[in-house]
Amino acid sequence: MKALCWHGALDVRVDNVPDPKILNPRDAIVKITSTAICGSDLHIYDGFIPTMQSGDILGHEFMGEIVEVGPSVKNLKIGDRVVVPFTIACGSCEFCHRDLWSLCDNSNPNAWLIEPLYGHSPAGLFGYSHFFGGYAGGQAEYVRVPFADTGLFKVPSELTDEQVLFLTDIFPTGYMAAEHCDIKPGHVVAVWGCGPVGQFAIKSAFLLGAERVIAIDRVPERLELAKRYSGAEVLNYEEVDVGEAVKELTGGRGPDSVIDAVGLEAHGTNIDYWMDKAKQAVRLETDRPTALRQVIVACSKGGTVSVPGVYGGFIDKMPMGAAFNKGLTFKMGQTHVHRYLQPLIDRIQRGEIDPSFVVTHTLPLEQAPHGYEIFKKKQDNCIKVVLKP
Ligand code: NAD
Ligand code: ZN
Repeated sequence: MKALCWHGALDVRVDNVPDPKILNPRDAIVKITSTAICGSDLHIYDGFIPTMQSGDILGHEFMGEIVEVGPSVKNLKIGDRVVVPFTIACGSCEFCHRDLWSLCDNSNPNAWLIEPLYGHSPAGLFGYSHFFGGYAGGQAEYVRVPFADTGLFKVPSELTDEQVLFLTDIFPTGYMAAEHCDIKPGHVVAVWGCGPVGQFAIKSAFLLGAERVIAIDRVPERLELAKRYSGAEVLNYEEVDVGEAVKELTGGRGPDSVIDAVGLEAHGTNIDYWMDKAKQAVRLETDRPTALRQVIVACSKGGTVSVPGVYGGFIDKMPMGAAFNKGLTFKMGQTHVHRYLQPLIDRIQRGEIDPSFVVTHTLPLEQAPHGYEIFKKKQDNCIKVVLKP
């Protein structure tokens, strides 16, 4: 089959690779109909995620049709149309039972690699390095889905791929980020980053009752979409001093909660600087967590800092004194996608949101390398790329 493979920083190619096979009784094989490129894929593309190997298949946002099931999978059948959470979860460990699916204890066979660094291992992830289990991703024609009986969700036939595809990651991710803000009537939420995750965080903050949302980015089309689709007030950080502007928009008080939907900033203002950095080597830390510093300083006293943006390894120069003395609450992590899937399908069916609003490009899988390039460089008004294998 054809699959999008990583060969090093800024080097991804469509290769011919062996078809996946059922390995365990709870596996299923899915024929991919739609798959997307995520901001998290850019961290791999930039060379920031260690333990990638040349030839690893990328992609963790995908859906399709079941073509084969293992003997223990009783709730699904060949032909079912399904979406696949990017976090792999067994459904039976202590953490799955506590609804903390992205912390599953049984889905990362390479836990030994990550535990010396993190103490304990998070769940396995599709297409996201050997730290996270070394699972082949879904930017491909077919994929093997482990724990398929808990990890595959059937989707209503009247909804298009583009309306349900983002249930795999960015819709639940934006929604969980907003839910972490504990929004009360009258609250103001500020969101740093208007990429796909930021867009869903902004819309979700309104769905959860925020009175106002302030959205921050530097890309005009992304700010425009946040205004048009969700009704956010927008700030371009290249045109204003964000700290001052956010203060002014909130009567000097600061937003009740803040969301960092940026994460590792390989694609901030100075692309050339970061292209250079990315080419250097795989590394664990970044020295510029600018958005994270800004959200902490901007947040109102007693507020919540919600971090869906991905960080890895160590970051330096956190304004810990501001966080401590303002009594802030921090919430973060990989999304517990399984927890949100059904409630969010219901919201789509009720017409509260049409997740396809972020799609700007639909490309055949063969053009995935071009998709990565325009998504990273924000060229051609690119906000979200969907690939069709
Ligand atoms: P993206 O790269 O398309 O969007 C990031 C946006 O942030 C860009 O529009 C960029 O211009 C903007 N930005 C950069 N620096 C900024 C700054 N200092 N202030 C304000 N905006 C700034 O990526 P995305 O797909 O929207 O993903 C966003 C983040 O969410 C990534 O770090 C991704 O890895 C992460 N993510 C996390 C989870 C999770 O489970 N927690 C899931 C999916 C994605
Ligand atoms: Zn993703």
